[in-house]
Amino acid sequence: MPPTAERKDFEATKKLRSVMGQYFADLGRGPTEGKKTAWCTSVGPAELLRALGFNVYFPENHGAMLGAARMAADLIPLANARGFSPDICSYLTSDVGSYLKGESPLQKMKLSGPPKADVLVYNTNQCRDVKDWFQFYAREWGVPCLGIHTPRSLDGVDEPLVGHVARQIQQLVEPLEPIAGRRLDIDRLREVVDLSRQTTVLWKAVLETAAQRPSPLSFFDGTIQMGPAVVIRGLPEAVDYYRLLLAELQQRIAAGVAAVEGEKFRIYWEGMPIWGKLSSLAAQFLELRMCVVASTYCNSWIFEDLDPACPFESMARAYSSIFICRSEEYKQAYVGKMVARFQADGILYHDSKTCPNNSNNRYGMPQRLQKELHKPYLVINGDLNDLRLYSEEQTRTSIEAFVEQMAQE
Ligand code: SF4
Repeated sequence: MPPTAERKDFEATKKLRSVMGQYFADLGRGPTEGKKTAWCTSVGPAELLRALGFNVYFPENHGAMLGAARMAADLIPLANARGFSPDICSYLTSDVGSYLKGESPLQKMKLSGPPKADVLVYNTNQCRDVKDWFQFYAREWGVPCLGIHTPRSLDGVDEPLVGHVARQIQQLVEPLEPIAGRRLDIDRLREVVDLSRQTTVLWKAVLETAAQRPSPLSFFDGTIQMGPAVVIRGLPEAVDYYRLLLAELQQRIAAGVAAVEGEKFRIYWEGMPIWGKLSSLAAQFLELRMCVVASTYCNSWIFEDLDPACPFESMARAYSSIFICRSEEYKQAYVGKMVARFQADGILYHDSKTCPNNSNNRYGMPQRLQKELHKPYLVINGDLNDLRLYSEEQTRTSIEAFVEQMAQE
């Protein structure tokens, strides 16, 4: 076995820390500066909320922080005691548990915890759990909870559907304006949509660099680097950050710098990250010379349909076209295309117990894609946050066997 390779951090990550730190500082200061806070689902109408002057907070990001900090297993039982089943989204149960216990990783960032919402705005494009999650806080705080109900399992995204969703986004304006204390300025909305679109284009370009051999970027880098695409899309800082990161990736490509030294195997990761185990998985993958070159998860924050010329329709189209609300046929074709585009040698499916919405191994896709692509696959059982549902030993052994299988192909 060659000496263990080191994970290479990006120079740009220093800037990432300051950009994300600023975002959280702004959230913390918001109420004292008279700014209103809107909670938004990760693929919700963030552009509209920003254009109305809200500080926008994304509780799924907090859920991921609770997972990465390995606080979830202690917090989930508190939510269970309030009637939230251990089988539902562990972001939801970790976050509600964190609220009930008054403990949050944000406290290390000098915030008392997540900012209290003046309004909560969801989109059910990803799942129903987000609506139930937001309604919990709406009841706790007596604040409005508004939302968009997007059809799911879509083969295509046609005009009637876009119209249906666009009307729902437009209908949010009336109840949001009095909470925001201002009227919507359509030019400001166009500006924010344009900044989100630029963020998306750059984020996609960042992820596309992994099509190179060797790849300068891995999924484990992506789960860190995606922060601005999720929480500050629509702000110029996100655009500036991805320009910086992309330039560094291009330098890596020019210099032949690999994210995984001696890259031997290239993998597609389908499903959620296992937040509390990212470091140990990244270390094992480095050891095995295996690079996760693409994933459904990191690609889920690419919204190419955004268009400042038609902000409502384009938001509706962009947020209804994401992978998670598409049909099984669409998803299978998408994963097949990604495997070819990124020259992956195999597919790893994470069956995340508490998120059926992001677990695409359950209806025969691995078997069908294996038949079609002639590439090996591995299903690992785990969870995004609840590490009681994950066996490290079993997963390590399965990954080693998977590598052996790929080596024989
Ligand atoms: S998509 Fe999954 S992880 Fe995300 S909020 Fe819904 S149930 Fe939770």
